[in-house]
Amino acid sequence: MTAVRSPFSLAGRAALVTGANTGLGQAIAVALGQAGASVICVGRSPMDETLAKLAEAGAAALEIRADLSEMAALQPVVEQASAWKGRIDCLVNNAGIIRRAEAVDFTEDDWDAVMDVNLKSLFFLSQAAARKMLADGKGGRIINIASMLSFQGGIRVASYTAAKSGLAGLTRLLACEWAGRGINVNAIAPGYFVTNNTAAIRADSARDAQILARIPAGRWGEPEDIGGAAVFLASDAARYVHGAILPVDGGWLAR
Ligand code: NAD
Repeated sequence: MTAVRSPFSLAGRAALVTGANTGLGQAIAVALGQAGASVICVGRSPMDETLAKLAEAGAAALEIRADLSEMAALQPVVEQASAWKGRIDCLVNNAGIIRRAEAVDFTEDDWDAVMDVNLKSLFFLSQAAARKMLADGKGGRIINIASMLSFQGGIRVASYTAAKSGLAGLTRLLACEWAGRGINVNAIAPGYFVTNNTAAIRADSARDAQILARIPAGRWGEPEDIGGAAVFLASDAARYVHGAILPVDGGWLAR
């Protein structure tokens, strides 16, 4: 008797994760690998730690080094990634940066740097991957990593809030354009997680206490808390889920 395939299995699928060398991207890459996917890890820095974790999980992995703030880098990434297993089944747009300053002092450089990586690059990488997914008629999955600042204003992070709010809108637009053509576009909105991205606010004890006091789960998220949502959205179990923004936030938004 042959075993019935779990709707959550990613066996035989190739998933590309940007910013896979650390933090949430690493945790997502590992979770997808544990669910059976072959994982393409894209980032600027060496991904040895992620590759070791994927090897431990028994998952095939490919490293592609690229600076995603350069739009010219995007098409070559998609070409190289597609060539590895014949296609990209799932793209996770995770890479992101943050710059902090009061709105009155915010510089054009801090605006452009964040918008380029967190929004412009996400759109054009999605476009390049979707063209491939549509060309062979097999569709695919795109998962964008949003933020609480896709819903809320925040403070001192003007370009980050603009980019993550734009990401929420783009997730819905792309879902509307591509749902009927076999591509599910969704987002995950992490709450407050222990990664490099939040090192500065965690180091500020007053801010740390303020944030913690609002999280019903009573703790910051650990990167391992995010992977299950990505596996779900990448899997057949989510085949009728389009344009959703799934909070993984310890209850922050429910408060
Ligand atoms: P992180 O700083 O540890 O990871 C960011 C990743 O993006 C790194 O792998 C980095 O190398 C990569 N990256 C940045 N610029 C790049 C570029 N130009 N080219 C290629 N790769 C680039 O932080 P993280 O918290 O793991 O962030 C991952 C995503 O999660 C980001 O989009 C972030 O905005 C989002 N997020 C994080 C939190 C949190 O609490 N940590 C909350 C909400 C959303």
